[in-house]
Amino acid sequence: MRNLTFAANWKMHTGPEDARTFLASFLAASPPKAGRDLWFFPSAVAIEAVATAVQGRADIRVGAQDVHWEPKGAFTGATSIPLARAAGATGALVGHSERRHVFGETDAETAKKVRALLAADATPMLCVGEKLEQREAGETDAVCARQLTAALTGLSAEELARVIIAYEPVWAIGTGKNATPTDAAAAHRAIRGTLAALGLKGRATILYGGSVNAGNIQALLAEKELDGALVGGASLDAKGWAGIVAAG
Ligand code: PEP
Repeated sequence: MRNLTFAANWKMHTGPEDARTFLASFLAASPPKAGRDLWFFPSAVAIEAVATAVQGRADIRVGAQDVHWEPKGAFTGATSIPLARAAGATGALVGHSERRHVFGETDAETAKKVRALLAADATPMLCVGEKLEQREAGETDAVCARQLTAALTGLSAEELARVIIAYEPVWAIGTGKNATPTDAAAAHRAIRGTLAALGLKGRATILYGGSVNAGNIQALLAEKELDGALVGGASLDAKGWAGIVAAG
């Protein structure tokens, strides 16, 4: 049986106090399960609260939603990897579609963040995915391959094995319109091909993200290509999230 990973992206929601309340309810409803890892990506101000609340749960890790590649300096508003680590984070999302398409993050910046996280012994969760017009033009696999190649070229096999991939079609994020399990699986297969060409040995962990909820998680995970899910909106309710992470 494959391991499953479930990651909650809280975006710009849930401050420290709400995080503590959420986790009191979630942890009681969601005991550890063998072969299952959980990640929380709270806003930077709530990383410490989440990390403190999940102490003693080896199956749960906390990450930043974004990091700067420089360890320190005059970068107002940014979070460095050492600062995120000091708050309790052991990884970060990289290249989330909202960073790419709302804030204009480039492939080159994404590559620097992946390298900086690996150098700091932290886990990058690299997000890739196509926009609607790219899917309609049949460019899904080419877009993912370009984003993966830009972010990961030159990494050793050992470094590649430490990167978690999230396939997140942009048109599915926050829209209530998820990719079909078949389409998600096809994209995951193509991503595995690109990762192998880049030098990965063994099986990557590839999560699907985009309007995952309690109603569609079972059908998505029935596709063995999917190693879990990265979830935004449906991760904001403690009981609902506990139900999702029990799936599969
Ligand atoms: C996300 O933010 O990564 C995401 C997948 O959001 P949602 O689940 O709300 O579509």
